[in-house]
Amino acid sequence: MAAKAAFPAWRDIPAAERKTRLHAVADLIEANSEEIALLEVLDTGQTIKFMSKAAERAADNFRFFADRAESAQDGLALPTDGHLNYTMRQPIGPVGIITPWNTPFMLSTWKIAPALAAGCTVVHKPAEWSPITAIRLAELIHEAGIPPGVVNVVNGMGEVAGKALTEHPDIKAIGFVGDSETGKAIMRQGSDTLKRVHFELGGKNPVVVFADSDLERALDAVLFMIYSLNGERCTSSSRLLVERGIYDDFIARLVERVRNLKVGDPFDKLTDIGPLIHPTHLEKVMRYVTVGCEEGATLAAGGNRPEGLGDGNYFEPTLFAAATGDMRIAQEEVFGPFLTALPFDSEDEALALANNTKYGLAAYLWTGDVRRAHTFSQRLDAGMIWVNSQNVRYLPTPFGGMKSSGIGRDGGDYSFDFYMETKNIDVALGDHRIPKLG
Ligand code: NAD
Repeated sequence: MAAKAAFPAWRDIPAAERKTRLHAVADLIEANSEEIALLEVLDTGQTIKFMSKAAERAADNFRFFADRAESAQDGLALPTDGHLNYTMRQPIGPVGIITPWNTPFMLSTWKIAPALAAGCTVVHKPAEWSPITAIRLAELIHEAGIPPGVVNVVNGMGEVAGKALTEHPDIKAIGFVGDSETGKAIMRQGSDTLKRVHFELGGKNPVVVFADSDLERALDAVLFMIYSLNGERCTSSSRLLVERGIYDDFIARLVERVRNLKVGDPFDKLTDIGPLIHPTHLEKVMRYVTVGCEEGATLAAGGNRPEGLGDGNYFEPTLFAAATGDMRIAQEEVFGPFLTALPFDSEDEALALANNTKYGLAAYLWTGDVRRAHTFSQRLDAGMIWVNSQNVRYLPTPFGGMKSSGIGRDGGDYSFDFYMETKNIDVALGDHRIPKLG
């Protein structure tokens, strides 16, 4: 296998050299950013408005981890009486990276860059619905002088190509981003080879808006975090919890703004929402409109395919109001431009609603009360919490979820903990007592 054969040489080249080559990848991504953005729009239906920055973010991922390649092996010094313990990290070996179809280019760099910086070789299995930019990324990686076999792409169906990767004895770890159910299957598939797994899975992320917050900014963030990227975003704030005193007014303002969103040609710079990725996904999102109506929530905006856009997978930005926490539209990940809003009366009720889901990826909190900002955040079951903020990523911070939203964290040194083995070395500094046997 190419990744196995390439591993010893890639592991053993000086980390400074890995750093240089990863920066060369970033340079090439930047030089080709326009083409990458267009390919991503073509492949996924994401709008150019949001994809124009995809390559820039991908290049940032490579630069960030390139700069850490030299320190990735650093560990701890743990001296004790008569012994010096120290730890160091070594790359785990060839790894499999399995990615989903939403923002596939940026997302795959987020996994591949730290693996390469750590000294691992990679087999990447992109999603079958979005295979194009993975190939382009591999071409740029090779053009940047990363040796053959260090990064390999295997296209194919998850249940075939993905499964084979998770079962392969030479693959030491699987970094997976995708659906929670697929994560469970991968854990089963990898059990015979005791595969190390890292899962970034689904979410049903709450955004909690208290009456004392800056409501105009909260409204902007609510709209952005569910209707950008076609709502096909793991960290989208798909459950809106609003304090009852401001609920009616907030929803009315939200409805007005939702109706202003422009659905259409993803290559048009003014378009907010492009076609969803695939007819099957469109059907799934539309089924939730039926579910929401049957459950008795109020369809406050959208819910249909827009008129005049032909047969594309277009779908109106949709808002259900007056939902309750146990409804399926408040529990299940829709993964489209689909928002479910619920009122709450007290801080305790808001917390119970926010945590009442099997997921725990991200949460967003809007309040003007500093004490509440901290106490409420500390009680939220989510791996990432943003207070008075949309999802602003800072690469050293841990990225990942609790409960059914994942296992492990990415970002900064957290990524190296996954792609590397930590080794402890104990050196005796004197003649400590060794029991004499035999
Ligand atoms: P998916 O789980 O259907 O597919 C993801 C990848 O897994 C694809 O490459 C697919 O081919 C592969 N796969 C499918 N079955 C497999 C199997 N049995 N063995 C090995 N590989 C297999 O997910 P999707 O529909 O492509 O993406 C949407 C999901 O991804 C959503 O749930 C979303 O929340 C999640 N997601 C999570 C994050 C995060 O960081 N937490 C980020 C983006 C997307």
